[in-house]
Amino acid sequence: MPPTTCSYCSGESVYAREHEGVSFCSRCFREAIEERFRRTVIRHHMLEFNDHIALALSGGKDSLTLLHLLVKLEKRFPRSRLTAVSVDEGIDGYRDEALEIARAACSRLNVKQLVVSYRELFGTTTDEIAQLRLGQTPCSYCGVFRRKAINKAAGMINATKIATAHNLDDEVQTVLLNMLHGDPMRIVRAGPVLKDPRGRFLPRIKPLCDIPEKEIVLYAYLTGIEFQTIACPHGHEALRNDIRTFLNQMEVKHPGTKFTLLRSADRLRTTIADVTLSDLRECMKCGDPTSHELCEACVMLEAIAA
Ligand code: SF4
Ligand code: ZN
Ligand code: ZN
Repeated sequence: MPPTTCSYCSGESVYAREHEGVSFCSRCFREAIEERFRRTVIRHHMLEFNDHIALALSGGKDSLTLLHLLVKLEKRFPRSRLTAVSVDEGIDGYRDEALEIARAACSRLNVKQLVVSYRELFGTTTDEIAQLRLGQTPCSYCGVFRRKAINKAAGMINATKIATAHNLDDEVQTVLLNMLHGDPMRIVRAGPVLKDPRGRFLPRIKPLCDIPEKEIVLYAYLTGIEFQTIACPHGHEALRNDIRTFLNQMEVKHPGTKFTLLRSADRLRTTIADVTLSDLRECMKCGDPTSHELCEACVMLEAIAA
């Protein structure tokens, strides 16, 4: 049984971090999350004092939490800038609400926001792609197009970095997903920081990669951050769902499993990062980073147009 008092003060415990054997009251928990976020940023050298960060803001719990944390951090760096970029994928009854929540948060926190849409960038929407029944799930297209849309939006505002709100669970699910897809080199390219050694592409950072999903939900709740709770009607990839369930079961039976997996991927990365990143080249059609002649988005756009 976790102790009923905070391990750091005498306050009432609201959360036990089992693999560390510690409990937190509300205040100490929020401080611990903010400290972990700062440590991740520092450890991976994620930010420069004069960065213009494009934060991918969906309106979900992760990106809104990252918005709050970055706003706090940015106050200490007066020469840095933060702009939220939101993507309208065209999902009826779902994306509108998220975009409204994102817009309200930006106006409350005084952060500029740029919204781009699949319709204007690619001439289609995720709803329309779902109806085409192209063989892959709508998520496969939606995820690839979102990455491209965020790249484009970041370019429009002359950002120096793109920050995304992937959490620990997302990261370790992706590690296993790439293994099961037979694409282990992707693990190397999907680290907490993706920087092109030749400087051709904007660096991408993931400052929440050390924080488990359930801790982000609790932090958002305790901090009063409002976020979208309804699920996308197109659902998620089936394989990722199975991996999520498996990892959650492992974490209950063997606390710390997710962190161990993340550290294993980190070790792999530091060993072979140089090789795979220099493999990246520019898409022949749009110039985005890819390991093939055409990037995934351009291949998909050709399939949709066919
Ligand atoms: Fe797009 Fe799939 Fe996410 Fe829905 S669940 S927003 S279709 S990636
Ligand atoms: Zn406390
Ligand atoms: Zn391309």
